[in-house]
Amino acid sequence: MSDRMPTLFLGHGSPENAIADNAYTRKLTTLAEELPRPEAILVVSAHYMTEGSALTSAERPRTIHDFYGFAEELYEVEYPAPGAPQLAADVVGLLGGQLDGRWGLDHAAWSPMRHMWRDADVPTVELSIDLSMPADRHYELGRKLSELPDQGVLVLGSGNIVHNLGAIDWNRPHGGYEWCAAFDAAVNERLGTRDDAALIDYDKLPGGPQSVPTPDHYLPLLYTAAAAGIGAPATTVYEGLEMGSLSMRCVRFG
Ligand code: ZN
Repeated sequence: MSDRMPTLFLGHGSPENAIADNAYTRKLTTLAEELPRPEAILVVSAHYMTEGSALTSAERPRTIHDFYGFAEELYEVEYPAPGAPQLAADVVGLLGGQLDGRWGLDHAAWSPMRHMWRDADVPTVELSIDLSMPADRHYELGRKLSELPDQGVLVLGSGNIVHNLGAIDWNRPHGGYEWCAAFDAAVNERLGTRDDAALIDYDKLPGGPQSVPTPDHYLPLLYTAAAAGIGAPATTVYEGLEMGSLSMRCVRFG
C-alpha cells in the first residue's frame, strides 16, 4: 500500500490565482513536487454541476473560462492536459452516471493545476457534482472511488471549505468573519480525528449555514476524504481565510 496515491482537497479561491505568484500558488508547486507523479487525475469540480453524475470523456478537453469580469490575461490561459476517456468510462462503471464529451476543464481544475503540473501533461478527467443528492450520498460516491489511488490515480477535489460570495469583503484580503473562522476551525478539527460523520453533517457545525450557503464548493471535500479511506490521515498543507468569507485550506489525505 506504500505506493497508494494520496488524495487532495484544494481550496481554489479567486480565478486570479491561476496567474498569480503568491504563498498559495508556490505551495501548490511544492505540493506537486512532493507527490508521486499521477498516472491520471480525477478532479471533482465545484464548477461542474449536472443532473446526475457526469464524467468528461473528451480526448482533448477544452479549457473553460467560466468566470466574468477578470483580467484579459486570464481568458487567454490554456491548459491543454489530455483527457483520459478510459478512466472516465471506468469511473462510470464505479459510480454510474454518464460520459460527457462536451465539458472540458473549468477553472476549479486548471487554476490550481497549472501551478502543479506546468507542462499540462497528466491525463485529466472531471467528475461533476449532482446537486440533487444529499451530502451522505456524495460521501458514498467518494467511497466508491477508493480503489483509484491504488491505480496511481490522484483524486483531487477542488472547491473551498468556506465559500460565501454574497458576504465577500473586498477590503479584507486576508482574514475572515467570526463564523468563517469558526467553521474552518471546526472542519479542521473533524478532519484531524477523521470524524467523517460530522463532516457530512456540516450544517450542524458552528458557522455552517453561513459558510456553506450552497454545497457546491464544500462537497469536493467529502469525495476526497471518502476516496482516501477512513484510515488515511488528513494533513493541512495550506490554510488562510480571505476576503471575509473564503477558506483557502488545502488538505492532503494519506
Ligand atoms: Zn470556485
